[in-house]
Amino acid sequence: MSKILIIEDEQRMADLLRRGLEEMGYVAFVAYDAEMGIRLFRSGEYDLVISDIVLPKKNGFELVKEVKELSKNIPVIMLTALGTTDDKLEGFDAGADDYMVKPFDIRELEARIRVLLKRKAATETPQEKELSYANLKVDLLTKTVYRGGQEIKLTPKEFNLLVYMVRNPERVLPRAEIAEKVWDTHFDTGTNFIDVYINYLRNKIDRNFDTKLIHTKPGMGFILRSEDEDKA
Ligand code: CA
Repeated sequence: MSKILIIEDEQRMADLLRRGLEEMGYVAFVAYDAEMGIRLFRSGEYDLVISDIVLPKKNGFELVKEVKELSKNIPVIMLTALGTTDDKLEGFDAGADDYMVKPFDIRELEARIRVLLKRKAATETPQEKELSYANLKVDLLTKTVYRGGQEIKLTPKEFNLLVYMVRNPERVLPRAEIAEKVWDTHFDTGTNFIDVYINYLRNKIDRNFDTKLIHTKPGMGFILRSEDEDKA
């Protein structure tokens, strides 16, 4: 259940919003002025903030700035009865993500809430930390490679090439694809730099191990595969 903080000084409006959102399955909290809003925001974990612009003590623009300083990714929807373009621009300047002009239909507000929560969830997908294939492990944060628990030192280019292969295992990777995806360049058939790097990688990844992972498909490209087809 998403937690929404409503900052609105008009009690009737605030209650209407809170009840409406609760009926739609959200958990809603109300602050009646900006200071109380900031206090509540600091003390809880909210998924979204809805703030009026004209508030006692501090206006909604200042409040949004503070909220965004505390939590960069929190979506904020601003409410106003004014609806002038200036208001809107100032709101977006302060960091508001969306804007509703009073009076509005709560279903319209809910549609915007859903969009913003979805966007927030998408940006919060946890960072990919590790890749693995067979007994090969790639730590993407420290850029360290292990095979069977043994650290293997790679140059940045070798590392990028290996990461691409581990992300695309058991599939033939043509030289042109590797050139484009790893080197960001077009493959010129007159050069053999990819073969050179594949050999560097082989020496480091496969030489000391019985099971070879990097295989050449003559005339086609390379494949990362744990089945030892060189022996087969
Ligand atoms: Ca107000």
